Amino acid sequence: MTGRAARLRQAVIGWIYPPVCGACEIPISGERQLEVPFLCEECQSTLVPVGRHYCAVCGQGYELTGMTPFRCANCGDRELAVDFVVSAYRGTGVSKGLMHHFKYGKQRHLARLFGVLLDEVWRDERLRERDWWVVPVPLHPRRQRGRGFNQSHELARELIRRAPEGVNLTLHPLLKRVKQTVRQAQLDRRERLTNLSSVFAAKSSRPIGPDPGAGILLVDDVITTGTTVSECAATLRGVLESDRIAAVSVLRG
Ligand SMILES: [Zn+2]
Ligand SMILES: [Zn+2]
Repeated sequence: MTGRAARLRQAVIGWIYPPVCGACEIPISGERQLEVPFLCEECQSTLVPVGRHYCAVCGQGYELTGMTPFRCANCGDRELAVDFVVSAYRGTGVSKGLMHHFKYGKQRHLARLFGVLLDEVWRDERLRERDWWVVPVPLHPRRQRGRGFNQSHELARELIRRAPEGVNLTLHPLLKRVKQTVRQAQLDRRERLTNLSSVFAAKSSRPIGPDPGAGILLVDDVITTGTTVSECAATLRGVLESDRIAAVSVLRG
């Protein structure tokens, strides 16, 4: 969409639904809404990017490290099937609250805001080195029916829509969730690591992809230990050839 068309569309939508901040509900100007939808400046100023110091494998952010790249204690004792993880922001305070509204408050429109926040992951050069087949982490059908949508699928669409120039992203929902599990957030670390075995399966019995040279990029809303995306990656590695499987998330739990 051209800038003018986007502005016009925004003016019409703003007239019907005046935009408010998804966190504090103060009204947002049309101009602001175009730049950072559904988030006021004050709430935005509280967001903390994961930044440049993070584990080269699981993506866990650290305040200070002497060396880059490094492998951290969050994942050093485990084999992850995913090659690397990049998260955009820390999942605390405002960002955590927004994600809660998005997932459990039926505020599907917040996907547009999270799409803007996801721009942050492109700081990682490894993501710019190739094209990607984008695979959302699936929800169990029962949970998806209750929620009305799969948040990771919405985020994947926004990621693709805003892809940087020169990186070709295409949506391929290759996975399904075959077992309903206890929400990862309700478990402690040890339980999280074992909660997910054989939860995912390929949708097709003979899945194809990705295109030669392209990698697989998993998308999730929140990544904490990396277990969920690792299980997804392990499932995909079992059924198709891919030399690169990475994952991105809006928030780091
Ligand atoms: Zn606000
Ligand atoms: Zn790590």
